[in-house]
Amino acid sequence: MGFSSALQGRAAHEALIVRQDAELRLMETMKRSIQLKAKCDREYAIGLAAVAQQGLKTDRADEMQGSLITKAWRSYMDELDHQAKQFKSNAELLEVVCEKLTHLSQDKRKARKAYQEEHAKIAARLNHLTDEVVRKKGEYQKHLEGYKALRTRFEEHYIKSGRGGRKLDDVRDKYQKACRKLHLTHNEYVLSITEAVEVEKDFRTVLLPGLLEHQQSVQESFILLWKNILQETSQHGDLTSDKFKEIQKRIDNVINSINPSEEYREFTEKHKTSPTTPLVFQFDDALIEDIPGKLQSNTLTVDNLTVDWLRSRLIDLEMSVKECQEKQLKMIEQANGGSPIANGSITRNGSTASNGIQSPKDSQNRQSKDLNALRCQEKQKQKLVDMIKCALNEIGCEELPSGCDDHLEQNFIENSFNNDQQMSLSTNRPLYEEEWFHGVLPREEVVRLLNNDGDFLVRETIRNEESQIVLSVCWNGHKHFIVQTTVDGHFRFEGPPFPSIQELIMHQYQSELPVTVKSGAILRRAICRERWELSNDDVVLLEKIGRGNFGDVYKAKLKSTKQDVAVKTCRMTLPDEQKRKFLQEGRILKQYDHPNIVKLIGICVQKQPIMIVMELVPGGSLLNYLRKNSNSLTARQQMGMCRDAAAGMRYLESKNCIHRDLAARNCLVDFENSVKISDFGMSREEEEYIVSDGMKQIPVKWTAPEALNFGKYTSLCDVWSYGILMWEIFSKGDTPYSGMSNSRARERIDAGYRMPTPENTPPEMYRLMLKCWSAEADARPHFDEIYNVVDALIIRLDNSH
Ligand code: ADP
Repeated sequence: MGFSSALQGRAAHEALIVRQDAELRLMETMKRSIQLKAKCDREYAIGLAAVAQQGLKTDRADEMQGSLITKAWRSYMDELDHQAKQFKSNAELLEVVCEKLTHLSQDKRKARKAYQEEHAKIAARLNHLTDEVVRKKGEYQKHLEGYKALRTRFEEHYIKSGRGGRKLDDVRDKYQKACRKLHLTHNEYVLSITEAVEVEKDFRTVLLPGLLEHQQSVQESFILLWKNILQETSQHGDLTSDKFKEIQKRIDNVINSINPSEEYREFTEKHKTSPTTPLVFQFDDALIEDIPGKLQSNTLTVDNLTVDWLRSRLIDLEMSVKECQEKQLKMIEQANGGSPIANGSITRNGSTASNGIQSPKDSQNRQSKDLNALRCQEKQKQKLVDMIKCALNEIGCEELPSGCDDHLEQNFIENSFNNDQQMSLSTNRPLYEEEWFHGVLPREEVVRLLNNDGDFLVRETIRNEESQIVLSVCWNGHKHFIVQTTVDGHFRFEGPPFPSIQELIMHQYQSELPVTVKSGAILRRAICRERWELSNDDVVLLEKIGRGNFGDVYKAKLKSTKQDVAVKTCRMTLPDEQKRKFLQEGRILKQYDHPNIVKLIGICVQKQPIMIVMELVPGGSLLNYLRKNSNSLTARQQMGMCRDAAAGMRYLESKNCIHRDLAARNCLVDFENSVKISDFGMSREEEEYIVSDGMKQIPVKWTAPEALNFGKYTSLCDVWSYGILMWEIFSKGDTPYSGMSNSRARERIDAGYRMPTPENTPPEMYRLMLKCWSAEADARPHFDEIYNVVDALIIRLDNSH
C-alpha cells in the first residue's frame, strides 16, 4: 500500500508533513552526534599517540640489546601510533559525512516545501470551483425569483389589457429580459457544475495520487541517501575493519615472536664471565691470641658453660635435619602422586594460580629447585650436627672442664637438694636431665603437681617462638617466675646471677630467700617428674605408622626396656591451646588399665615435639583392618570384636569417662583380632558433659541425636556410637549412611530412619544395634548389658559348634 492510495485524506496529508518535520529533527540530532563522535575519535587519537610516544621512551641503552621483549614492545608502540593515525583519519572522514548530512537535510526541507505548495495548488482549483458552483446556484435562485415575479406580472397585464398596449409591451420586454437572464444563469450553473465534477474527479483520481506517488518516491530516495550516510558513519568507526585487523595482527605477531629461550642469548654472549671464585671464611686467629689454650680456632669449646647449650643446639639441629628430610620425602611423594603441586595448579603459597603463570614445566623446575635447596639445607645442618657430635664425643663421660677461671661450681659439689626426694644437682649435666625439670609440661599439669606451700619445679614455656625457663612454686596459690638472662648469659631472679639455671635454683633453695620480695615464695621441696613423664631421649622413633589430628604417629622403641611402642607426636607449630588438647588424651589414659583400652606408657614433654607414648597395637586402626580382611572375617570374629569394644566401653562407663568419638577408625586391632579402644582426644571424665564451645568437627554420623541437638553427652551417647561401630564391624568397614551428607543423615535419623542390617549379620546383633539407636537415650542399653548380651550370644554360638 503506497502513499497514493493510502494517504489521500486531509489528516494523512497533515501527518505526512508532521512526519517530515520529525525526520528533519532526527537528522539534526544525528548530525550533532556524528560531530561529537568525530571529536572523540580525534581526542582518542591524540591520547593514543601520546601513549605510544611514552611507551617508546624506553631505555635505548645497551642493557636491553638483543632483547626480543624490548623489540616486541617497540613494535607494539609503533602499531599503537598507527592506530592513533587511523582514528584521526576516521575522525576526518566522519566530518565529511557530517557535511553530507547537512546537505541532505537542506534538500529534504526543500522537498517538503515543494510538496506542500503543490498540494495547495491542486487543492485550490477544486476549492475555487466548489465556491463557484455555490455562487452560481445562489444567482440561479435570485434570477429564478425575478423571472417568476415578472412572468406573473406579464400574465396579469396580458389578461387585463388584452393583447396590445404600450404597458403590456413594456412588461413583456421586462419579462423577456428576466427570462433570458434566467436561462443564461441556468446555463452557467450547468456549466460550472460540469466543470466542478470534472475537476473534482481529476483531483481525486489523477492529480492527488500523482502528487502523493511522486512524494513517496522523493522521500524514499532521501531514505536511501540517509542510509548511505549511516553506513559511512559506521564504517568510519569500525574497529574490526581490515585496517585495524592488520594492525592487531602485526601486534600479535610481534608478541608471539618473543621466545623466552632466545631472550637472553645476546645478553649472555656479551656478559659471559667465568664461574665465581669461592669466598673464603676463615677464623681470625688474632681474636684468641690473648686466651691461650681455652678457645681454639675452628674448634668448638665444650665445657660446663657450653655443654647444655651445645646439646640443646644439637637437638634443634637434628630436628631441623629430620624436618628437611621429611619435607623432601613429601615433595617427592607429591611429585610422583599427581599431587596438586605436580599438576601445576597450585602456586607456591598454596593458592590456585589464576593468571596462568605456573606452567607444568615451571612447577617441575620449581620443585627440583626447592628440593635442591632442601638438600643443601640438610647438608649444611648435618655438617653442624656432625661437628657438635664430634666435639661432645671427644669429651665422652669425663668430668667436664670448667669454663670459668673461678671455680664457682665448687659450691655445688655436694649437689643434692636436701629434701625427701634426694634430688641431685650437678652443673655438668643438661637441665633437662634434672629430675625436677618438667620440660614443656602444660601449666594445668604443673599446678596439679604442686600441692603444698614450697613445692616447686622448673619447666619450659615457649612464648613468641622463644623458649623461656619458668620456676613454678606453690605459695599462697601458684606462682610462676620467668628466669631472667643477663647480657653476659647468666641467670637470675631478683638476687645475684649464676652461670647455670641449676646453680640459680640451688641458691634459691639453700638460701631460703624468697624468689621475689613481692611474692615471698620460698623453695622447700623439689617435685620430681612422675613415672609417666618420660624424656624425649628415652624413645627412638623408627617408622611412621599413621597420621593423627595433631601430628604423625610413629612406631618407636623405648631405650630402657627395648619395648616397641607407638608414639603420637604433636606438631611444634601448633598453638599452646592445641598442645594442651593433645596432652588431654595422655592425662585421661594415664588412669586406665584395661585389656581393651590402649595403654599409656608416658608423655614426653621435656622438649619439642611433645609426644604421647602408648603401647603399640600392631594391627593398626580397626577400620583399615576390617576393609583389608573383609574376605576372611567370620561372624564369630566380628562378634568377638563387638564384645571387646563393649568390654572396654563398660570399663570406661564405670569410670565416668565419656569417649565421644567411638568409631572403627578410633579402635585398634591387637593380636588375634582383639580390639582396643583408642583416640581419647575428645573424651571427658564426667557423667554428663554439655558442650559449650560450639560443635566443631563433630563426627555427625556417629553421634547421638541429643548430643547433636542439645550438646548433651552421656555414656548413653557412646552407646549410640557403639551401635554404629557394630554396624561398621558387620559391614566390614563400610561408611555409614553412605550416599547421604551429614545433614541429610541427621534429618532422616530425626525422622526415624535407621540403617538396614548389613549382610550376614546375626539377627540378635542387628536387634542390639537398633536398641543402641533408640531415639530416647534412656531406652538404650548400658554397656554392661550390651557386654552380657554379646557375650551370651558368643557362648551360645561356641557351644552350638
Ligand atoms: P588422633 O587421635 O590424633 O586422630 P589416632 O589415634 O587416630 O590419632 O592415630 C592415628 C593413626 O595412628 C591410627 O589410625 C592408627 O593407624 C595409628 N595408631 C595410633 N595409635 C596407635 C597405637 N597405639 N598402635 C598402633 N597404631 C596406632
